[in-house]
Amino acid sequence: MSIPVSLIRCMSYDPEDVRSAVRASLEPMGGMGAFVKHGHRVLLKPNLLIAKPAEAAVTTHPEIVRAVAMEVQEAGGEVFLGDSPAFGSITSILSKNGIGEVVEDLGIGVVPFRSPVAVAVSNGVAFKSIEISAESRKFDVLINLPKLKTHTLMLLTMAVKNLFGAVVGVSKVGWHLRAKDDGRFADLLLDISRVVRPDLNILDGILAMEGNGPGSGDPRWTHIVAASPSAVALDHVIASVLGVGPDMFMTLARAREQGIEGSLPEHITTFGLSIKEAAVRDFRLPATAKRVDFSLPPFIKGRIRQSLSAYPVLNMEKCITCGACADICPVNAITLHEGGGGDVDRSVCISCFCCQEVCPERAIDPVEGRMLRVMKRIGVA
Ligand code: SF4
Ligand code: SF4
Repeated sequence: MSIPVSLIRCMSYDPEDVRSAVRASLEPMGGMGAFVKHGHRVLLKPNLLIAKPAEAAVTTHPEIVRAVAMEVQEAGGEVFLGDSPAFGSITSILSKNGIGEVVEDLGIGVVPFRSPVAVAVSNGVAFKSIEISAESRKFDVLINLPKLKTHTLMLLTMAVKNLFGAVVGVSKVGWHLRAKDDGRFADLLLDISRVVRPDLNILDGILAMEGNGPGSGDPRWTHIVAASPSAVALDHVIASVLGVGPDMFMTLARAREQGIEGSLPEHITTFGLSIKEAAVRDFRLPATAKRVDFSLPPFIKGRIRQSLSAYPVLNMEKCITCGACADICPVNAITLHEGGGGDVDRSVCISCFCCQEVCPERAIDPVEGRMLRVMKRIGVA
């Protein structure tokens, strides 16, 4: 059966505009009532990366949360909201981005993800068991609310990547270390999506983030609300809207290799706007964007790994020496300087860019290794 993905134009965060866009996005799937029945306990999982105001486009917008929560309540469900930021408390993030007000207005229960539990991934590709939040598993319905953003490591973060938030707090960093490269990390994300299995995904692509996301990019109006029961199908359609194919987007490439439903155009039926009508021109990808296949044998890639990777550089002018980057680095590659800025030990850096994700000052820039620059110039990366 074909997987529905709806694409709806939404020009602003005016509460009525957002509510009608969310409602229109669910119509082809039978409305919220097709997912939520009277008495269901429903968990919303927004993107709550770090404490930034809504207009910075780092986190899911409060009006998306409000609109979805109201739809759930109208269908007779009880609404909860949960996540596990890698840095900072969920309370401070909710208060900074305005979701806190929505939580109060609508009586939403906040569920911080704190307790990891090992879950077997029966058909897992990268890992056979993954530790995720026990709290996230206690609900009748899970609704994933990703933000449309670029991502220095994975190119884009949307529905599949947002589920990484089900891994508790700083243990996310350990998974970067275990995954080692972006291909295996994509496999891990797909394994997590097999375990977490959201019932519904509704994407906030009204004000997106382009450039060096997910924490340090630039807001860009893309005016889209999208919905699908499949995280992979939704990501696939939005990547097409941005003009990004599997040759660039590792998560989609790996999903195709694994034969996941929703990873090929013939698996999907779109509703609302066509991909052409929704198309976003000249969307700026991260400076680290590269082709998935370098056309080089793996043993050569291994030997010149540093030169083929992008790496972070700390900007002395912007750095306030808060220490967040050094604290989160899984391999202790960062040494901070007293007056601001610091050094990255490239011999140990695994290019996970967790440091950039948590930097509150946009003080970390990705820089391409020498060989990567050359290969991009000649069109093989
Ligand atoms: S320096 Fe940054 S990119 Fe490198 S391993 Fe540490 S956190 Fe990851
Ligand atoms: S680079 Fe960013 S995260 Fe690291 S110490 Fe400076 S301000 Fe903090």
